Amino acid sequence: MLRAARSASQWSSVALTGLMQDDFQLTLAQVLRRARTFPEAGGIVTLTEDGPERASFVEVAARVDRLARVLATLGVQRGERVATFAWNSQRHFECYLAIPCVGAVLHTVNIRLFSEQIAYVLNHAEDRLVFVDDSLVPLLAQIAPDLSHVEHFIVMGDGPTDGLPNALRYEDLLEAAHDGPYEYPLLDEREAASLCYTSGTTGDPKGVLYSHRSTTLHALAILGADLVGLRSADRALIVVPMFHVNAWGLPFGAALTSATLVLPGRFIQAEPLARLIESERCTVMAAVPTIYMDLLRYADEHKPPLSTLKMAVCGGAAMPISLARAFEERHGVNLVHGWGMTETSPVLAMSSPSTELDDETRWQLRAKQGRPAPLVDLRLVGEDGKEVPWDGSTSGEVEVRGPWVASGYYKEADSSDNFDDGWLRTGDIANVDQLGYVQITDRSKDLIKSGGEWISSVALENELMGHEAVREAAVIAVPDERWGERPLACVVLADGGKVSGEDLREYLCSRVAKWWLPERFMFVDALPKTSVGKFDKKALRARLADGTLGEIAGRSAL
Ligand code: ADP
Repeated sequence: MLRAARSASQWSSVALTGLMQDDFQLTLAQVLRRARTFPEAGGIVTLTEDGPERASFVEVAARVDRLARVLATLGVQRGERVATFAWNSQRHFECYLAIPCVGAVLHTVNIRLFSEQIAYVLNHAEDRLVFVDDSLVPLLAQIAPDLSHVEHFIVMGDGPTDGLPNALRYEDLLEAAHDGPYEYPLLDEREAASLCYTSGTTGDPKGVLYSHRSTTLHALAILGADLVGLRSADRALIVVPMFHVNAWGLPFGAALTSATLVLPGRFIQAEPLARLIESERCTVMAAVPTIYMDLLRYADEHKPPLSTLKMAVCGGAAMPISLARAFEERHGVNLVHGWGMTETSPVLAMSSPSTELDDETRWQLRAKQGRPAPLVDLRLVGEDGKEVPWDGSTSGEVEVRGPWVASGYYKEADSSDNFDDGWLRTGDIANVDQLGYVQITDRSKDLIKSGGEWISSVALENELMGHEAVREAAVIAVPDERWGERPLACVVLADGGKVSGEDLREYLCSRVAKWWLPERFMFVDALPKTSVGKFDKKALRARLADGTLGEIAGRSAL
């Protein structure tokens, strides 16, 4: 009898709905609620010109309520995009919560894009309001006339607002908004919470539109011990910019668990960072490799005490293992390698191998990008479109899916090139070993990652080929000790054309961001092409490696 009953229910075609509170929405309202729940725990320290400024999360939450009221007064609607153009600070964090919690979309603009791209993303997102740090006003003022939708700039700080029409002061607005709890709308977890643009290989930046659900789940996931493992007692120095994939989700994670956020404002040079680590007794840090390289140089010379740091997340570009060894051996700091992308909120994997393993094996695994995070599905796809095995040597393009992975781009009708049957194509080429550790070996996307930010090789090529003395130009990444990668421009001159690398830099100066300018040029007779006539970058890299391409001209480093 019993056996019959069990098998009947096992094979029943009527699903049994769970009796849990599944209508509880995973929204940033929960993060805000947690922030105001524990008066004694956590808070924000921001480094300013006048030293550190401090606030508890309860004080911050009260200011978020005021800001929510300001947004309502300014007529912000559900789903409307509201931009920030700012460094990491308490005020920026207030925008991080107030904008999504009123049902609008926090659009964090990357201040390192070049002006045309900044104008492009603000116009594409149709931002009506832009919150801007006073130190960044001059940068925005240059393009203010080109912004078709902006009605007000809300300036954070007391500095001049010259060049910004309709500027309002953040603190004046907050002061005028009355105190007390704000009635936030009930949001659906699938509503958009924030928007971040990523540089495409070709064409304009593309918008990744995070939902409340994806952001909340991602924040929760990074609290896991194999990922960042933030705890309420932690004091986390967030150097990765808040305009870069929501600072890897750490501000939300910290507020969820009541850890203290230490935000460096615009003081991201090694010396102020080292001082902050010491004075604030930071236990966690997050930054790209270039920042750690500067910090290491400084630490080797000045020996600041850094050993309160129990974990320093290093991501956004490959972490040189020599860097991690130097930090551990000379300063007692554990650098942990992380990998992700804007389209994936960003965390996909982190490398925290078991301490039970022998030292050498651990170092080998720590150099890799790590094991996929819980809830991230990952596969490798070979050139023939078939999945390749996880054997530690066969490589393929990494494809991922999961609750914090994008399913398309904002206002782009057809994103199919970037997806493969519902899986996001990362453009990263990797192998995965039998323990599940991902090792990125190459990149199929035509981009250069310098100091954690993208340079589009295609955009540089197009500009170079606009010069009358240049017939063809192909730009590839070359390794650089300080920046990770820098662009190398391989140029074929037009008949009778005469131009030097220095002339070309000069020419590019007014056309691309300063930090995009290649310092290395190579003049060649011809460029290798694929069967369909495109530059064959793979062959170009191979010829560079075996020395058959020629001598690189130009400065060797910045
Ligand atoms: P983020 O810089 O936050 O990772 P981006 O979208 O700007 O986000 O860049 C994502 C890309 O950067 C990845 O697809 C990969 O090519 C590169 N990348 C990020 N982290 C690493 C890493 N740890 N190792 C190698 N490449 C990385």
